[in-house]
Amino acid sequence: MSLYKRVFSPIRIGGVEVPNRIVRTAHATRLAHRYVNDDLIAYHLERAKGGAGLSIIESTSVHPSSTFSLSAADDGAIAPMRRLVDAIAPSGMKLFTQLWHGGYTDPAADGGLPWAVTALPGRYSVAPPIPMTTGQIGELVDAYGQAAARMQAAGLDGVEVLAGAGYLFSQFFSPVLNQRQDEYGGSFDNRIRALLETLRAIRAATSPGFALGVRLGASTDERILSTADVNAIALRAQAEGLIDFVNITHGDYYFHVERYAGMDRPVGYQLPASERVGQGLTVPRIIVGRYATLDDAEQALKEGQADMVNIVRGMIADPMLVAKARAGRGTEVRPCIGCNQGCIGGVFTGRMRCAVNPVVGDEARLAEDRIVPAPSPRKVLVVGGGVAGMEAARTARLMGHRVTLIEATSGLGGLLNQARHLPKLHLIGDIALWLEGEIYRLGVDVRLSTYVEAGEVLAENPDVVIVATGSQPTEASGFRQTADPAAGLRIAPGARVLTSLDLCMAGAGDYGKTAIVFDDIGHYEAIGCCEALIASGAEVTYVTRHLMFAPAVEGTGRTQAALQRFHRSGRFRVLTQSALVSIDQGSAEVRPLYGDTPENVSADTVVLVGYRQSQNEIWQALQGRVPQLHIVGDALSARDIQPAIREGHLAARSIA
Ligand code: SF4
Repeated sequence: MSLYKRVFSPIRIGGVEVPNRIVRTAHATRLAHRYVNDDLIAYHLERAKGGAGLSIIESTSVHPSSTFSLSAADDGAIAPMRRLVDAIAPSGMKLFTQLWHGGYTDPAADGGLPWAVTALPGRYSVAPPIPMTTGQIGELVDAYGQAAARMQAAGLDGVEVLAGAGYLFSQFFSPVLNQRQDEYGGSFDNRIRALLETLRAIRAATSPGFALGVRLGASTDERILSTADVNAIALRAQAEGLIDFVNITHGDYYFHVERYAGMDRPVGYQLPASERVGQGLTVPRIIVGRYATLDDAEQALKEGQADMVNIVRGMIADPMLVAKARAGRGTEVRPCIGCNQGCIGGVFTGRMRCAVNPVVGDEARLAEDRIVPAPSPRKVLVVGGGVAGMEAARTARLMGHRVTLIEATSGLGGLLNQARHLPKLHLIGDIALWLEGEIYRLGVDVRLSTYVEAGEVLAENPDVVIVATGSQPTEASGFRQTADPAAGLRIAPGARVLTSLDLCMAGAGDYGKTAIVFDDIGHYEAIGCCEALIASGAEVTYVTRHLMFAPAVEGTGRTQAALQRFHRSGRFRVLTQSALVSIDQGSAEVRPLYGDTPENVSADTVVLVGYRQSQNEIWQALQGRVPQLHIVGDALSARDIQPAIREGHLAARSIA
């Protein structure tokens, strides 16, 4: 009997038979703009081949008064969507799309002001939106119906209306945000009127059997939109026969990381809210909540917590997740580490990527199933066993090359072996463990505790050398601040000053009553240091040259979660646009970047988070002495795992 008998039992949604219970719910990719394109088709096709039962394409705007990425607001959308449908059809995966209007969240197609429920600006708005007249609401309701009809004409199996997560209908539902005085504001019935009219319009515009559902969810602030109200909305739509499924989410833009929490939250973290929203529903319920394995999905189905389970990030990290697990190859699934860096962060900064899967967004060109055996297998030597080196070795081996990986220390994983010891960062180590397992499985010749210099590399007579020798932290005594490189940092004898790596290695301990984390980078490293120091009992002052707390990871949402934890401790404050002047025993002088008067800040311990120094001597020594020479990851420029893994992968793919 299958390990996953519930996961692999079919389910009917409206007139659509879905082959299994794994859903990829709608998630922004920004791989396409306005209409489906080749990149978006290739992205979804990989996941269809990987075994998902149902995918809901990303937010598709219905009207030019608010747009994000895709659009179904005109007939031009039909033919490109049809190409996607035709590409996916042989896989058996069913396809819906999500009909979307942001209200105050996103601009009009021409970059102008969006239409919204009232003139109240949203959390991230730059100007008040245009409050809709009743005539404009009617126009929008009609637009939903027309968009749904276009999507059915394109061959999709169904649509869902996004009526949660802080977008247009959430704004209608909220007694706080909806201050209208007409029939669309005030009472509960008035606040849900626009959604019910929209669902009726879609039913009228599409044929029986075409699936229709809603994505619903409360705010984390129950005053803005309560779970009880959202449950009542779902029950009303169900009672009127307007929906075939409910896709339950939680959170809105007032704490947006709730919608896609990172590795600091457990699998199933949304269950307390989704169980309340789902009460009394007889139509299928889809739940989300950082599910990433079929074991987790099977458990949720067994417990009756859901009828279908969403796995999005798990299948971004490994498109073949479902197929591998079903075939008993679950250990070969590349793990999502819950970092949000490439997926969520990528969307907010331009285009979706993945920290651990280097080909996300480039499937049309680089999907792993496009790797074919190299016509002339090469002798490849990889120097360095961090994630960049291991990814290079893994990929080169998949291409059929003869690969040796040489690592100076007694273990693989590089800096992740230290980073994973910081609080709430444990999952980051999973990608190193997976890469280690894969390179052994694929037959890479791994030599640990082997320090090599250029002469020893040349003695191996390799065709290709990939240098992935990583980086070292800058010692406190040589620390230079990026915003003030001419100024030295005076450190008094006896002052307790650590680098972030020192703190990782030392682990839990006594760091005194007060501490400073000075963050020159703005990435998660400093957050981890703050977390460790607060956990030790210290009162922490975070000091940075940047305009804000950890700007490099702001797009991931994990900064919100971290700030919430830190402020709740009552022992945290932030000083932005600041520089360290000096460090003494028990305190440090901190000055505003554009001011001359320093502030004395109590600090029994100061942790310096600065750019590490690349280790690349062997690459310099091998210049012009081997047929093909590459340098990847921190050895090239000290950054984080996403560029490191991608560079390792691309170096291997470029072997001639
Ligand atoms: Fe998972 Fe991070 Fe990849 Fe997103 S970027 S899918 S969170 S590993």
